[in-house]
Amino acid sequence: MLATVNKWSCSRDPSEVNCKPVAKEVQYDLCVITSAYEWIKLKPRLLAEEDGQLRSIYVAAAESDAVTQNTPKVFNEKHKTFESFKKLHLSAYKIMFNVGNWKMSSCTCPSFLKNYKCKHVYGLAVHNKLALFPETVKTVPIGQKRKPGRPKGTTKALLKM
Ligand SMILES: [Zn+2]
Repeated sequence: MLATVNKWSCSRDPSEVNCKPVAKEVQYDLCVITSAYEWIKLKPRLLAEEDGQLRSIYVAAAESDAVTQNTPKVFNEKHKTFESFKKLHLSAYKIMFNVGNWKMSSCTCPSFLKNYKCKHVYGLAVHNKLALFPETVKTVPIGQKRKPGRPKGTTKALLKM
């Protein structure tokens, strides 16, 4: 046991040549980036409250009505039953978008609560010109899920002979 802990400790030592750095920010994988691309393509209606570095942005959940001026109130309301809480909180999501460091943003959607990353945060980062969509995400037809494995990338139309 002690040997294992010692091994972990050494492998994280920054002065070591083969140091495994501790993850300080989330890494967005192609699957989430593809979902973000498809979500932004649909031009979702956003409701934003400016507050310096941190912006509160409200978006409607899939298959829910678009956000309205009343949406922010839902997040501050006190609910008497769990059903009313669930109904309102699952109809829209609140993204706390950090303009200075978008990877430190948060969202109330189930994907973010589980994995600390979601299509909303990445989509908004691209929307605010803080991140880019790689070319490979644009090659998957809308509505189709990305297949597991490494993407093929774009093929060259003309090959030099
Ligand atoms: Zn989200």
